[in-house]
Amino acid sequence: MDAKEFRRQAHLMVDWMADYLETVDQYPVKSQVEPRQIFNQLPSSPPEKGESMNTIFKDFQDVILPGITHWQSPNFFAYFPSNNSYPSVLGEMLTAALGSQCMMWETSPAAAELEELTMNWLKQMTGLPSSWEGVIQDSASSSTLAAILSARERASGFTINDQGFTSKDKFRIYCSTETHSSVEKAVKIAGLGRTNLKKVGLDKQYALNPEALEQAIVQDMANGFSPMCMIATLGTTSSTAIDPLEKIAAICNKYNIWLHIDAAFAGTALLLPEYRWMIKGIEKANSFVFNPHKWMFTNFDCSAFFVKDKEPLLRTFEILPEYLRTSTRGKVNDYRDWGVQLGRRFRALKLWFVIRNFGIEGLQEKIRFHIKLGQHFAQLVEKNTEFEILAPVHFNVICFRYIPEGEKDMDRLNALNELLIRNLNKTGKIYLTHTRLGSKYTLRMVIAQTNVTKQNVDSAWKLICETAKSLNI
Ligand SMILES: *Cc1c(COP(=O)(O)O)cnc(C)c1O
Repeated sequence: MDAKEFRRQAHLMVDWMADYLETVDQYPVKSQVEPRQIFNQLPSSPPEKGESMNTIFKDFQDVILPGITHWQSPNFFAYFPSNNSYPSVLGEMLTAALGSQCMMWETSPAAAELEELTMNWLKQMTGLPSSWEGVIQDSASSSTLAAILSARERASGFTINDQGFTSKDKFRIYCSTETHSSVEKAVKIAGLGRTNLKKVGLDKQYALNPEALEQAIVQDMANGFSPMCMIATLGTTSSTAIDPLEKIAAICNKYNIWLHIDAAFAGTALLLPEYRWMIKGIEKANSFVFNPHKWMFTNFDCSAFFVKDKEPLLRTFEILPEYLRTSTRGKVNDYRDWGVQLGRRFRALKLWFVIRNFGIEGLQEKIRFHIKLGQHFAQLVEKNTEFEILAPVHFNVICFRYIPEGEKDMDRLNALNELLIRNLNKTGKIYLTHTRLGSKYTLRMVIAQTNVTKQNVDSAWKLICETAKSLNI
């Protein structure tokens, strides 16, 4: 391909992209293909000779697209969102064209400085302490891993990186039973041992019970363990429960435990001053993560990770082989030292585009609107006696289930709701996913897609009611 053909193809594809995003609500939101259906349509060996972009793009449309689940559809109510927006897509396009590898300041000074700047902007936008420092990671999983490894090194006096574990290192890590699975994964990767992750019980609202946390810590200490790290969640994945940060922070300070806050989804709500109560006490914590790639209209991947003190983080990850030595070292941020990856994408660009193009007010308006739609949906559920809400609605996620007149049997209710969600997703009109709260099979309605409207929500509710009625029980 030459420059002329690239230009022609790029224009065609931009037109396709604009059409796609404008009409994405007309696709079956959840891909309806069977396992191997895509794989079996494609040649099992790569082509000997190059193919034209026209042929390749036709296969993208005919073969690949049917196997895509449309996360940008306003009828996508599943999981947590992975939103994009026009300014974000434009930023990603330029990032791809530059193709810079932003491992350190010298490999693209603007990327490093824009990353520092946008992280400072996010601190101001969310009310995080101004003295903290931020870095963009690929995911909340990586951010949490970085936090747990830093906590491990701090607690061991930086000896585990050096010498590995010894028998005296008996660390314990704490979270609630509703904490995201990425914490368990990080504990395993960090070599701490899954059995040393203590999952503390909940209050009635599915938030961590701080008394139970302190009890677990005291008991562990009595048994010769060293409490090392605690992960609190603001907006749990199942039900967006909010762990009581202030109480947890006080306990962590008392026992000198690293407190990491996982606000992967709900951190975006901190853009609204009325939600800042959630981070009361944060100055006592050590690290915080939220994902602009979830609810802040910035393409995956973009996870904003903040630390109170960057020294433990840098001491944990720093490496300095001869071929990475630069004369600016120490005067600038070399972000390769701030996490696992050496090579890094220029992710700050799309974030900068999003923040500038929406403005703080534009972002706030959208987030408030999503929360309002959440309240609207919750009211619809409440008004219908054949449905019930199963967890407090803090944001725009509604946990609910179908509970037809007279049906009390737990197993039958669980089977019924499982069937309901399967039938709903088969229609291709909406996409919902589930969780389990206690033993209850629970439907989750997440109203957070960038362009979701009241009409999308109302149509979804109508379809849910009709589909529930049509279940043969
Ligand atoms: C989504 C989510 C994660 C994982 O996010 P990734 O960026 O996909 O790693 C972690 N914690 C919580 C609370 C989440 O909702």
